[in-house]
Amino acid sequence: MFQLEELVRPNILTLVPYSSARDEFKGEADIFLDANENSLGSPLTKWYNRYPDPLQWKVKEKLSAIKGIASRHIFLGNGSDECIDVLLRVFCEPAIDNIVIVPPTYGMYEVSAAINNVKVRKVPLTPDFQLDLAGLEKAIDGHTKMIFLCSPNNPTGNSLDRKDVEVLLNNYFGIVVMDEAYINFSRQRSFVPDLPDYPNLVVMQTLSKAWGLAALRLGMAFASQEIISLMNKVKPPYNINQATQDLVLKALDEVGQVNDMIRVLVDERGRLEQELKRLSIVREVYPSDANFLLVKVDNATGTYRKLLDNGIVVRDRSNVILCEGCLRITVGTETENDALLKALIH
Ligand code: PMP
Repeated sequence: MFQLEELVRPNILTLVPYSSARDEFKGEADIFLDANENSLGSPLTKWYNRYPDPLQWKVKEKLSAIKGIASRHIFLGNGSDECIDVLLRVFCEPAIDNIVIVPPTYGMYEVSAAINNVKVRKVPLTPDFQLDLAGLEKAIDGHTKMIFLCSPNNPTGNSLDRKDVEVLLNNYFGIVVMDEAYINFSRQRSFVPDLPDYPNLVVMQTLSKAWGLAALRLGMAFASQEIISLMNKVKPPYNINQATQDLVLKALDEVGQVNDMIRVLVDERGRLEQELKRLSIVREVYPSDANFLLVKVDNATGTYRKLLDNGIVVRDRSNVILCEGCLRITVGTETENDALLKALIH
């Protein structure tokens, strides 16, 4: 049985969270002398002398409409990287608990766990980059608080088989984190609508990829109200700055423009895949549901260096498990992709 209270670190259950100055006052006021801000203003025209809304309600309201999920089920982090860190600090007792990851996958799960002194168990994906359910069953023990899944997966680009994820959600009573950073480029549907069925599910998304806002740092976690409250307890009080909140509010009105960009990038992904497959140095281009391609080439490190000499940076993944001999290449603009193809031919 899933029992949230049994998964949470005991000190977090009893923790009295920091109460920010604005939390104490809910009514209307004209004069704010409660938070030791600069009452004169700022060198900028905006009201940047004031602390931002710690719970970012306006941003959440807009996201709620776009994602079809109530604001109380949304946590916002300074990038999904902060969501990963906050989840580890809610659930994993340092030196005692462990998490399971399924390499090859996004690197921050392991790094963030190491920073928090949380042990990491690795159950590699199968050769076709899917979950090894038997391996997972063996790796999980009473101290396994979380499993991090990534779909579409970085760096392989494929989506995980939905049925396998459902088996895990139904049989494992720790937290399953589904990182959907690349979901907007995928043929598969998100797990967000499935949240009511799975109290142990946390879905993460980000504005850094399809929304083109990597510089603003806005990551999202969707989960039960209880899990979101725990994450809010642990996060730094003003983790999303006012400039980001202002700009994100504006950007979220442009769903149409973002959908256009997604279409262009998905088309370019298809073209790049076909063109790469025609090159003699290319051994394999793995099918991708993301905005990058995992490409097996002759002499990956040599090819990486050759591209660098041409002013093109890709990611050398040749030392990563199951990605031996591979480069990870982000889908660029048409011009950038042409430049990449030209550099690979010569
Ligand atoms: N998850 C995955 C799978 C990623 O690839 C990345 C960024 N490369 C992140 C999360 C981090 O995203 P953010 O910019 O929101 O911190």
